[in-house]
Amino acid sequence: MPDDAAPVVPARIFPGLSEHNRMFWTGGADGRLRITRCTRCGLWVSRPAEDCPDCGGAFEARPVSGRGTVHTYTINHQPFNPAVPVPYVIAIVELVEGPELRIATNIVDCEPDSVHVGLAVEVRFERHDTDDGDLYAPVFVPQVETAEPERSVVGNVDEPRTNAHHRGSP
Ligand SMILES: [Zn+2]
Repeated sequence: MPDDAAPVVPARIFPGLSEHNRMFWTGGADGRLRITRCTRCGLWVSRPAEDCPDCGGAFEARPVSGRGTVHTYTINHQPFNPAVPVPYVIAIVELVEGPELRIATNIVDCEPDSVHVGLAVEVRFERHDTDDGDLYAPVFVPQVETAEPERSVVGNVDEPRTNAHHRGSP
């Protein structure tokens, strides 16, 4: 287990694994967050699917930096799961690789009250022993550096359009 693994690993419910989401949930074994990207048009999607909704191209799992910013969050005080101590932070993190490339996650290893929209965060993984083998849930911690993520380098070269895939985001 990595040294920086969370000391308390709450029970989690994982989705059933498929060929489309397997890399997302197992990629943490080497510490890299992997997101699916269309091999034809470069569209990133946070929910693995069979074919690209924009162009019908095939997806592949690509390692990303694991850095992003808090897009929105909520501090949960309700003990929905007895194994998970409250309060804890549920957040949508926008990854630096793509505008509107967002994943639902938890912010850990910090005071819940210190979390704010725009907080720079980076990925960690919680290892869970499941019937599908070891799965790695991506969670995020505040970046040690206080510098803003390099948003200026996130251009529109690869992804010229806003895609319908993310339109439902808050
Ligand atoms: Zn595509």
